[in-house]
Amino acid sequence: MTLLGTGTSYGVPMIGCDCDVCRSADPRDRRLRTSVLIDLPEPPRSGDSRPVSAVAAAVRRVLIDTSSDLRAQALTFGIRRLDAILYTHSHADHVLGLDEVRRFNRLQKEAIPCYSDARTRADLRRTFSYIFDEDTPKGGGIPKIVLNEIAGPFSLGAVDVVPVPIMHGSRPILGFRIGSFAYLTDCSAIPDASWPLLNGVRTLVLDALRERPHTTHFSVPEAIKAAAQIGAERTYLTHISHELGHAETCARLPRGVELAYDGLVLDVEN
Ligand SMILES: [Zn+2]
Ligand SMILES: [Zn+2]
Ligand SMILES: [Zn+2]
Repeated sequence: MTLLGTGTSYGVPMIGCDCDVCRSADPRDRRLRTSVLIDLPEPPRSGDSRPVSAVAAAVRRVLIDTSSDLRAQALTFGIRRLDAILYTHSHADHVLGLDEVRRFNRLQKEAIPCYSDARTRADLRRTFSYIFDEDTPKGGGIPKIVLNEIAGPFSLGAVDVVPVPIMHGSRPILGFRIGSFAYLTDCSAIPDASWPLLNGVRTLVLDALRERPHTTHFSVPEAIKAAAQIGAERTYLTHISHELGHAETCARLPRGVELAYDGLVLDVEN
């Protein structure tokens, strides 16, 4: 999987900020809005006991969240195809790139299935009402998507996707677990019922906004504590603000924990 963006909602550098991180020459201090692209393994061959439908087997590239920077991310990382989109929640930095899906519709000549919880589905219908309004003029094209509500674990291509309910301030949102990998962005607390879903996670991408506490995101100390409790072999912190410089922060993080950066590629066993 490729981390397409690891920045908080403002992005880094921030507009009109002259701090050391916003002016840093280190490319790892340039952070687009948070999302991840997952390249799924080949579907199981005959002999594997799990039935995989022809449609599901074709799913190879999955995007988590259509960030405000999706166009730039697709160009930078050469994304030419999307088979499915998973949504963590409907905050602007995670959904505003949805209009860019028009381009994938044109390339692929098909609608793209999206998966989210009920609240995000309702928010998407409202925020992007033009997509669902039959009177919208079709001149420039509109995104063609199919909104699916997540009711529990489901199969996508060769893998099982396990939604992991987490708290983002007072709002319940979704993290995702695929095999030994878990992606928990915009997380300020992990509810008791979700801990068992994280058993055996070996590679973790976890929210850590900044050093100081925040109402809707883990701070670095909170993220380190949660990572230790989950027990992953490697943890990459994401949704990072301009208060954390890459090199200086990584130098003081405990073993097995580091800041993620845009373009980081993780190989994960299913
Ligand atoms: Zn966010
Ligand atoms: Zn700054
Ligand atoms: Zn958010």
